[in-house]
Amino acid sequence: MANRLRSKAAQMFHIQMSHYHKVSKLFQPVSQAPKYAIKKKDESSSISQKLMTELGALHPRSNGMYALLPLGLRALEKLNKSIDEEMSYIGAQKIALPILTSGHLWKKTGRWKSTGPELLKVKDRHEKDFVLSPTHEESVTDMIAGMYPLSYRQFPLKLYQISTKIRDEMKPRFGLLRCKEFVMKDLYTFDSSEAGAAETYEEVNNAYLRIFRKIGIPFLRVAGACGNIGGSVSHEYHFHADIGEDILWICQSCGEGTNSELITEDSQMNCHTCGGVLKKVMGIEVGHTFLLGRKYSEPMGAFYQDLQGKPQPLHMGCYGIGVSRLLAAAVEVLSTKAQMKWPLAFAPYKVCIIGPKKGSKEWAAVSWQDSLASVLSQNLGLGDDIIVDDRSTLTIGKRVLEAKNTGYPFVVIVGKKACEAVPQFEVIDNDKEEVQVLTQLETLNFVKKHCL
Ligand SMILES: [Zn+2]
Repeated sequence: MANRLRSKAAQMFHIQMSHYHKVSKLFQPVSQAPKYAIKKKDESSSISQKLMTELGALHPRSNGMYALLPLGLRALEKLNKSIDEEMSYIGAQKIALPILTSGHLWKKTGRWKSTGPELLKVKDRHEKDFVLSPTHEESVTDMIAGMYPLSYRQFPLKLYQISTKIRDEMKPRFGLLRCKEFVMKDLYTFDSSEAGAAETYEEVNNAYLRIFRKIGIPFLRVAGACGNIGGSVSHEYHFHADIGEDILWICQSCGEGTNSELITEDSQMNCHTCGGVLKKVMGIEVGHTFLLGRKYSEPMGAFYQDLQGKPQPLHMGCYGIGVSRLLAAAVEVLSTKAQMKWPLAFAPYKVCIIGPKKGSKEWAAVSWQDSLASVLSQNLGLGDDIIVDDRSTLTIGKRVLEAKNTGYPFVVIVGKKACEAVPQFEVIDNDKEEVQVLTQLETLNFVKKHCL
């Protein structure tokens, strides 16, 4: 019995031992290198689109639609997880609404007509109208309306989903930045008072600030236009990028900003708050929050019961993060023309270990490749974040170049110095473009410091 248990433990240990990913097995169809540089005047593509498709993180399926390949999807799922954590922290609960929403709900709010041709409409076999939903205010509000009366204890109620949304873009471009099918996090909040809704709005915006700070890319938060969604107060979150489609005016003194859509001809071109000078910058919108009031709850009958037992319209908010767009926008901002770079927060893998070439002098140190991977993945608990470039027929130099292009934040090389009496490893910080030579212990401490 003891023996059997031991062998079982050994089997499990063995399974854990080999639990790190291998570049030789990675599905990363790289198109013929090195045509990474962007052609001049190619207006329909962006750095992120070029790099993510040519380096095998994305694959175009048709105009404005992409397959997410393992590298891209791993990054997206990490981003989802980080959003889930912040949503959970503010007590938001995850749901999944159908992608198809009944057309009659969109007719009720008037958006069936007002949305325009971006709204992709379909009919089922019974000639019933549906929309392939770009957003779900109608769907979620109608659902809550049908549950009347919910207990007052339920409020504020915060429901969100992370799902595929559809928009029939006239001119899809820049890859995931403007496409027909995208992943969005959409949160809907319901409060029984206006003051409560304002508080909820503040709370969600603070969660947004934490989400964007964790990503680590400088972002701009500006007053936004309410547009077709409606409501009274709105804020947008942007990454600054020249290919961005939004014009933002940012105060050079206090940093407050406004979307140009809100600026009328007679608006003063000075900051409302401090009088400072405004500067124009281009932004990629990655998040948008709206305080909706009763715009949807009233026509759709989403009510709460007041103390007298009378139905009153709920006060709503809605909050989006364009998850797939955010992914591409981050790559867009961080990458160089040839090297795709990801924020450490959602890099597909954090550390790539490159072993020696078969037949070279360094081959004597090859066992370090596995032992480093095992220690990093098990002892440090980075299991899923370690990838080993085990393609031992290729030179170290070629694999280092590929690792940099793919954008692994850290690269550990088992090379010449690993054969010395006290083995050492080259550790590359891809972001800072620094190389250090470290002992095993120093390497572990380095990875621990940066990746945990
Ligand atoms: Zn100002």
